[in-house]
Parts: sequence; structure tokens; C-alpha cells
Amino acid sequence: METSKILKSGEFLVSEVDAKDIFIPEEFNEEQRMIAQSCSDFLEAEVYPNLEQVEKSDRELMKSILKKSGELGLMGVSIPEEFGGFGQSFVTQMLVAETTGAGYSFSVAYMAHCGIGTLPIMYYGNKDQRERYVTKLATGEFLGAYCLTEPGAGSDANSGKSNAKLSEDGKHYILNGQKMWITNAGFADTLVVFAKIDSDRVLSAFIVESKYPGVVIGPDEHKMGIKGSSTAQIYFNDVKVPVENLLGKRGEGFRIALSILHMGRLKLGANVIGAAKKAITDSVKYANERKQFGVLISTFGALKHKMAEQVIRLFASESAVYRASNDVDSLMKQLTVDCGDYGRASIEAISHYAVEAAILKVVGSEMLDFVADEAVQIHGGMGYSAEMAVERGYRDSRINRIFEGTNEINRLLVVDTAMKRAMKGEFDLFGEAEKLWAGLDKITDGKTNSEDYFAEKKRYIKNFKKAILICIHGAVKRFEKGLINEQEVLNNIAEMMMETYVTESLALRVEKLGMMKGDISLYKDMLDVNINEAANTVRKSASDAISTFCTSDSCSSLEKAVETLTKVGCVNVKDARRRIADKLIEDNSYRF
Ligand SMILES: Cc1cc2nc3c(=O)[nH]c(=O)nc-3n(C[C@H](O)[C@H](O)[C@H](O)COP(=O)(O)OP(=O)(O)OC[C@H]3O[C@@H](n4cnc5c(N)ncnc54)[C@H](O)[C@@H]3O)c2cc1C
Repeated sequence: METSKILKSGEFLVSEVDAKDIFIPEEFNEEQRMIAQSCSDFLEAEVYPNLEQVEKSDRELMKSILKKSGELGLMGVSIPEEFGGFGQSFVTQMLVAETTGAGYSFSVAYMAHCGIGTLPIMYYGNKDQRERYVTKLATGEFLGAYCLTEPGAGSDANSGKSNAKLSEDGKHYILNGQKMWITNAGFADTLVVFAKIDSDRVLSAFIVESKYPGVVIGPDEHKMGIKGSSTAQIYFNDVKVPVENLLGKRGEGFRIALSILHMGRLKLGANVIGAAKKAITDSVKYANERKQFGVLISTFGALKHKMAEQVIRLFASESAVYRASNDVDSLMKQLTVDCGDYGRASIEAISHYAVEAAILKVVGSEMLDFVADEAVQIHGGMGYSAEMAVERGYRDSRINRIFEGTNEINRLLVVDTAMKRAMKGEFDLFGEAEKLWAGLDKITDGKTNSEDYFAEKKRYIKNFKKAILICIHGAVKRFEKGLINEQEVLNNIAEMMMETYVTESLALRVEKLGMMKGDISLYKDMLDVNINEAANTVRKSASDAISTFCTSDSCSSLEKAVETLTKVGCVNVKDARRRIADKLIEDNSYRF
């Protein structure tokens, strides 16, 4: 396995990085911390006091809160100064996404505006389009929405029926169609709309102003959660869209839609971190106040287990989020120098990290669902009361597994994209897999007598990667091109890949923390517990996959190899979790 500074997307499967080369949240500089603090202050001052009212579908109130965030500069983080923003690095953009993630419905409205509503124009727009729209979107003068989904076109986004035809005088596209589930529909000024021109096979993208005659906005949907975010259908009835508002080239819309979804997935991965930190703090505060059987419920081992698990899963996801963000940042900087256009360079870099984007989206949304669910449980009956923040957090969390591509679609993408990149020769996945397969009977756990703490953990992770390669090879050999239809097997492989990427990110973060801080024993506890769980997941997923492709000859050697490659040392996970929970309980807030 090679060690390299910046890995290509998916290359983590066959390469290693040095801990010193990754970015960890403990390295945020003063400016980044101040930006995050401004976002938190904004939530305290403008969002939390208005949550109840905004959740009564008060579109005007949500609109005014969004506008205020724009006036304070919070909408210009991803936009260069030239177009009215203050162009921050991708890592800073992710920190802002994280911090605003604690803002419930506001967070969804704000992220939709700043991300999918604005960035398609920033990334794909020409100078004129950027000047006419991005400058206004960056300050909140205009609010934006992104219109891809249709009644008959959800996951299969390219199958939409919306249509555009050039007018006889060649000055307009006449747009007809219906979009649904559109976030910010109730008040957006600009809509990025995807539709096919004539009978094209693929989509094109258009910038449509909601004030154009023929744009009709439906009433807000009654939703399970994020009730303050406006979500509605939009109808386009012979809408005249100026030809200058075609975004990108004709037929480039599907590519734009997918690239923007990669960006949305990365940002969602950061967004859920903020929501999870809030839910954990709410949980521990309650557990430190509520008494049963004469003692605080935070003293019970069962609750310490829950709180420690909340912390470990959050901390691990966060490690992966900032590791990937920094990789995107590095590539963005390099591409901006190469191509000279910040917008195009940004989206190229983001789209490159498609494997990691899908991983962060799935892992993050499922981490938050776990944390939010346990937050309700820690509150007991009170967790079911609409008076408690955790009840809102629980309902609001659920959407993250559905939008920005469902988690089912993203799991498939994790494996499919990595394999396609490898086939293009970006890294040698299949060669490495072939070698392992050829030497199946000789596989060992690679243990040496001299290895220190981190060398041991790295060896485990390297072994997990070998198990993944073996499964990929076996599945490709057995199903060939039909593998695409074996979604259960692809899911098994995705599970292993996600677990391994996150565990490796956590291990690298803890190792780097060791270079920066004195006592890292609690972080080692997190890593110990996480590796134990990861080994179980990899073993189970590999075993499930193997059962689908092994033959009577290969079955036992494959099972044995996976057993060997997922062997990890014994750790007292109960004590490790208790130590983590005890710190949380002592701090009475999430402070790791
Ligand atoms: C609150 C909210 C806000 C939203 N905001 C926006 C927005 O601003 N703009 C926008 O354009 N859209 C938005 N959406 C739409 C959202 O992106 C879609 O709901 C999502 O992509 C899923 O599409 P669908 O609802 O049609 O589900 P479907 O595609 O019908 O999926 C139903 C189920 O089938 C599974 N499935 C589908 N295809 C496959 C497959 N090939 N393999 C395996 N499983 C599959 C799915 O994972 C899911 O479990 C929003 C949705 C909601 C609920």
C-alpha cells in the first residue's frame, strides 16, 4: 500500500496517508472560529426565539430571518469578493455548514439558498449571470431555490417531463412543467430549473425568476419535520425564460444537477454535525438534572453507554468530514491556478470527491438519526413532548436520509463511483485485489512484535481494506456486468467502505492530536471502541457478500481470510465508553 499526501477520490482503498497531512477540526484558526461564533450567535439571537412561530409555516418570518443572515454576511461564505461574497476556503464553508446545522428548519432553508440555490449559478454561470444573480444571492437581496424533482422523477432525476422550446423569435425558451418538493419555494426569487429542450435526451438548466408570468407556487406541504422550511410544488405554464438565462450549455443540465448534488452531500455531512452536537448537549443536560431511584439518570451505565456512543459516532463522522473537506480544498486551489476560474475549479474539485461525498452523506445522516433517537430516549417521556428541543431534532433529522439523493442511491454510488474511477486508471484497485485473491490461503493478520498503538490500529484498517478488495474481486468475478443488479452485495461493500473510511479518518485524527496535545487517552478510547465496532461491521458485511459469490472450493478460504483480516485486540469497551461519558457528564455539554 502506498503512502501519499493527497489521495484521489476512492483511492483510500489502496493507499494510506500520514496523519500530519490531514486536516483536523482542532486546527481551525482564529478567523474560522470567529466566523463559526457569528453563526452560533445568529442562531441564538434570530433563529431559536422564532422557532415556534416559523414552524407554523410562516413564510414571511423565515424569509426575514434568511434576509438578516444575508445582511450579516452569512450568505457570502462560498462566493468570491468579486461577486459580493467573502470567498472562504472549502473547510471554512464546511464549518459554517456545521455551525448553522444546529438551526433546525432555518438550517435547511439557509443551506438550500447558499448551496443548491446559489452555487449552480456561481459555478456554471457566465460573467453576466453571476453579476445579475450571484451578487444579489450572496447578500440575501435575492433568495434562491433548486428545482430538479418532479412527481414522476425523483431518484431517476433525468426522467423529468419539464420541457423548454425556443420561441419563434429566438429570444426566449418557453418553459412548461411541474416541480415538487422544492425547498424555499414559498419566497425564492431565483429558481434553478432543470428541463429538456425539445426532445433532448438529457436535461438543460435555466435561471428562472419567480416573478416571470406563468410561474405558480403551490401551498406548503405538511411535513413530518423541518416545518419552518417552505417546501412546495412549482408549476411553469408557458413561462418565457430569456435565452441569456440558459445555465451552462444546452444538455449540460444533468451534469450540473449531479455536480451540485455532490456539493450538497459534502455540506450535508457537515450540517448534521452541528445538529448532533446540539442534541448531545441537550441529552446530557437533561440527564444531569433528572433524578430516578434517588439518583441522577446520568449515573446509570445504560445511559452512559448511549451518551458515549453518541459522542464516538459524532466525533468519527466529524473526522471524516474535515479530512475530505481539506482534500477538496487542496484540489480546488490547484485547479483554480490551472484553469483560472474559481467557480469551475470549485465544482471540478467537489465532483472529483464524489465517493467521499456519498460516504459523508450516508454516514452523517445515519449518525444524526442515531444521536437524535437516543436523545429522545434519554429524555424518556419528556422526549416525546413537543416542548422539548430533542422532539423537534428527532423529526427534523429524518429528512437527511432522503434528500440530496436517498441513502440507497448514495450507497450504490459509493461503490460504483470508486470502481469506475479505478477502471479509468486513477488508482490500482483491481490489480491489488487480484494479488490478494491469488494469495488467499497465505493471508495473515500482519501482526509484528514491535508495533506501537497507532501502528496496530493502522494495521487493522489496512486489513479491513484488504477484506473490501477481496469482496470487490469476488463480486466482479461472479456477477461481471450483472453486479449492478446485485444491490444487496453492493450495499455490503459500501458498508465496509464507509466504515473503513470513517475509522481511518478517526485514527488519523487521534494520531495527529497526539502530536498536538498531551493527554489523548479519551480519544484513544473512542478509537478503540470504534475499531471494535468497525471490525464487526466489516466481518458481517464481508461474510454476507461472500455467501453470494463463493463456490464450494473457495468458501472456507474466503471466510478464513475475512476472519483473519477483521481480528482486532480485546478492549474493555464498557470502561472506555464510561470514561467518555464521564467527561461529557462533567462538562455538561459536548466539548470534545
Ligand atoms: C423536505 C424535502 C425537501 C426537498 N427539497 C428539494 C429541493 O429543494 N429541490 C429538489 O429538486 N428536490 C427536493 N427534494 C426532493 C428529494 O430530493 C427527493 O425526494 C429524493 O431525491 C427522492 O426522490 P423521491 O421522493 O421521488 O423518491 P423515489 O425516487 O421514488 O424513491 C423511493 C424509494 O425507492 C428507492 N429507490 C429509488 N430508486 C432506486 C434505485 N435505483 N435503487 C435502489 N433504491 C431506489 C429510494 O431510495 C427510496 O427508498 C426534497 C424532498 C423533501 C422531502
